[in-house]
Amino acid sequence: MRTGTNHLFIPGPTNVPETVRQAMNVPMQDMRAPDFGDLTLGLFTDLKRLFRTDSGRVMMFPGSGTAAWEAAMTNTLSPGDRVLMSRFGQFSHLWVEMAERLGLNVVCIDVPWGGGVPVSDYARILEADTRGEIKAVFVTHNETATGVTSDVAAVRQVMDACRHDALLFVDGVSSIGSVDFRMDDWRVDLAVTGSQKGLMLPAGLGILAVSGKALEAAATATSRRAYFEFRDMLTLNETGYFPYTPPTQLFHGLRKSLDRIFAEGLDNVIARHHRLAEGVRRGIHAWGLDLCAEHPLLHSDTVSAIRVPEGVDARDVIRIGYARYNASFGSGLARLAGKVFRIGHLGDLNEGMCLTALSIAEMALVEAGARIDFGSGVGAAQSWYAKGAAASDPLRMAAE
Ligand SMILES: *Cc1c(COP(=O)(O)O)cnc(C)c1O
Repeated sequence: MRTGTNHLFIPGPTNVPETVRQAMNVPMQDMRAPDFGDLTLGLFTDLKRLFRTDSGRVMMFPGSGTAAWEAAMTNTLSPGDRVLMSRFGQFSHLWVEMAERLGLNVVCIDVPWGGGVPVSDYARILEADTRGEIKAVFVTHNETATGVTSDVAAVRQVMDACRHDALLFVDGVSSIGSVDFRMDDWRVDLAVTGSQKGLMLPAGLGILAVSGKALEAAATATSRRAYFEFRDMLTLNETGYFPYTPPTQLFHGLRKSLDRIFAEGLDNVIARHHRLAEGVRRGIHAWGLDLCAEHPLLHSDTVSAIRVPEGVDARDVIRIGYARYNASFGSGLARLAGKVFRIGHLGDLNEGMCLTALSIAEMALVEAGARIDFGSGVGAAQSWYAKGAAASDPLRMAAE
């Protein structure tokens, strides 16, 4: 018998706000009704604001983020096309694997896990590609397995510096809507996300923003696609309809979650993720533990991957957290199994929830054999949060 809240401290699916859950509890409706566009057309408009694009088009495929990956690649590339990718965690690894399965000719740079997109290697390879054989460059914006955020703008800069014309693909599944992402400013051609991370929804929507240049590439790309055909989707989307049955409940939830994001302000949402993440990081630092991310510039504001001390098995930390304290932490994926546990800090989250995550993690770590003083991490995070609260206290600001 479990009492109280089940704490979900994984980096997706994230906590769904009560108002979003309620918004999805509506009767089934006619997806071909004349007023169906009243629900869907506004979603496209607001998703464009989320991706920060005016010129791009946004699509929602029933499926998870992985479906949006497949849609992006099959619509704009042809078998045998050379593509530049890098691998530094389980998600970037899976992206490479999908590209290979789809018959692309992948140039993959392996980076130690904990690093980010190797911008200078990209620069070297793109400069040497004078015949423009590389058709696409891939960036995993936020590697959820290692808690590493990479610099998309820097990749755009090196592409511009050598006037390379490849398409720029970005996996933003665990960043878009939580971490600064600028489709138009960075001239991203295909940006991918899913519903169950920053958007605070159940899984089920693979969301994709595409540039005009990507749509041009789609006109001639020969990879096989049927369900994911952009043209079918875009043609029907014009008037708010879909080529097959869309998950209407999720659209109602998305309406509410976008309303929440824009009521808070996208910039404020991003700032909140940073503030909350920084508190978690200070807690981890106070424990004397290291993050998987190898440099502070790479720290992710949506997930922290924590290396456990020698002699401690991270799987025990996760098991104890779940069995004794109703708390789910993210596991160490693939080669990080046992070495790392992750705290997801994205979506519908506040200071108290982060402090709960740290305090349960402290107990689980100690029980798993780590030498950590109770309250050390929690105290460090409290100091940080209390300072932030004072700085942004509306009463105090009004008084000053
Ligand atoms: C979660 C995640 C994915 C996979 O998304 P699914 O919705 O599980 O298919 C891909 N990339 C990153 C960076 C992720 O965090």
